[in-house]
Amino acid sequence: MQIDELDWIVVSMSKGNAERVRLPRIRSITPFPHCYGIKYQHVQLIHNSPSQNKDVEQTMEVRYMEPGNPYQMAVKQVQSVGRLLGLNEDTIEGLCKPRRELTVNFPVRMDDGRIRTFTGFRVQHNDARGPYKGGIRYHPKVNVDEVRALSMWMTWKCAVMGVPYGGAKGGVICNPKEMSKGELERMTRRFTSEIMLIIGPQKDIPAPDVYTDSQTMAWIMDTYSMSVGYPVPGVVTGKPLEIGGSKGRDEATSRGLMYVVQDAARLKKINLKKSTVAVQGFGNVGWHAARLLAEEAGCKIIALSDSSGGIFSKRGLDPYKVYEHKKKTGSVRNFKGSENITQEELLESDCTVLVPAALENVIGQDNAERITADIIAEGANGPTTPEADRIFYEKGTMVIPDILANAGGVTVSYFEWVQDLQFFFWSIEEIKQRLKDLMTRSFASVNGISNAQNVDLRTAAYLLALKAVLRASEARGLFP
Ligand code: NAD
Repeated sequence: MQIDELDWIVVSMSKGNAERVRLPRIRSITPFPHCYGIKYQHVQLIHNSPSQNKDVEQTMEVRYMEPGNPYQMAVKQVQSVGRLLGLNEDTIEGLCKPRRELTVNFPVRMDDGRIRTFTGFRVQHNDARGPYKGGIRYHPKVNVDEVRALSMWMTWKCAVMGVPYGGAKGGVICNPKEMSKGELERMTRRFTSEIMLIIGPQKDIPAPDVYTDSQTMAWIMDTYSMSVGYPVPGVVTGKPLEIGGSKGRDEATSRGLMYVVQDAARLKKINLKKSTVAVQGFGNVGWHAARLLAEEAGCKIIALSDSSGGIFSKRGLDPYKVYEHKKKTGSVRNFKGSENITQEELLESDCTVLVPAALENVIGQDNAERITADIIAEGANGPTTPEADRIFYEKGTMVIPDILANAGGVTVSYFEWVQDLQFFFWSIEEIKQRLKDLMTRSFASVNGISNAQNVDLRTAAYLLALKAVLRASEARGLFP
């Protein structure tokens, strides 16, 4: 770990007397904290004391970023923009801490008769601008810090898009690939009943995320409806059309991403019809992004990947054929006419547009330098670390941040919710046009701030979002 990965340190001078010391005043630290997962460590540290006006040696408690911890990354992003806005530390802390966190441990009967206990989370970050909104993720690596980060990003995303929601997220630690449909259904229904207390169409509205889909949403909607005694389509979005889903929701995240890639290309004077694209992740977001960028934007898709690895073809890959191949074989690997590549090779491939659409934290300071794409459109949440952001800004790479690039999903979720509450459904043309208008408007606002303040697009998006959330909090005042 390098010294510049440290965030700030707490100096314990005497009992009950602590001071935060920021990095520039630190001269040296021995030993360097190096254990992943430990947030505090006592170290011998030499720093410049302003009160004594000299370097002093002390034993101190050091707090540092755990490499790869998305919540600390999300906090760091808010801290740096908060300071740019001149916010005080209390306000920044208030923006970073989720309002409510629910952890549930619940039993599920497995097909072999065993009863396994699963752990799930629902984190509600901020509801100043409206009811909580955010997906539910099923993954073996789900943890509360990840869910916290994802809930924060939802708050900022809704604010950037101007949709009247706050941010939330949920997850269950499980491996859906090793579970039968029956087991997944029982787990989903029991998890829903465990978090029933805090979700609802006026309170908190879940949606699909990694390894959850419209079927998962249908089970949640049914479980909730059975409990209250009548159908409540507005409790979740991303449902099947038959029970109140919206046209265009499946592809919404990727369609929104395509619209902002088109806006970005126009700005950078890039002809997308002569451009190449690499997409990491071939799930809901990655597949539709590859398809739409090829079909509607005219790009050539040269690299694709899923959790098993990647494929590359200089001549171009047909997303439909790769989709069929994945359906048959379970992975994109060994696709005819392509060569197998690693995730690293995909990210570093010679392409115009890179779309990370899998998980967070895949682009950091170790690989950012080698990534040569002109535009990075973040389909996934949190794929780029703040250190990598700095490198891209210096290189002139345009990073369209997650809270803008993948906001098409929550935008059409909002359309779905509005349709559900009114029991009145819109045409696909209407949905596409409204989505395009909102994505284009938000891209223009963020780009305008970026130009005016001379900051990258992520900082600009955060400036817009933080201000919107603060304005809402101020208008509502402090209860009681
Ligand atoms: P998904 O479950 O449909 O697909 C995930 C894909 O990522 C799969 O192809 C999987 O094989 C691949 N993957 C998993 N681990 C990987 C790894 N280590 N390396 C490479 N690929 C890997 O999920 P999704 O809904 O497409 O979500 C993908 C990302 O987009 C997530 O970060 C999610 O939070 C974000 N997102 C999704 C939506 C949405 O509407 N679904 C909206 C906004 C943001």
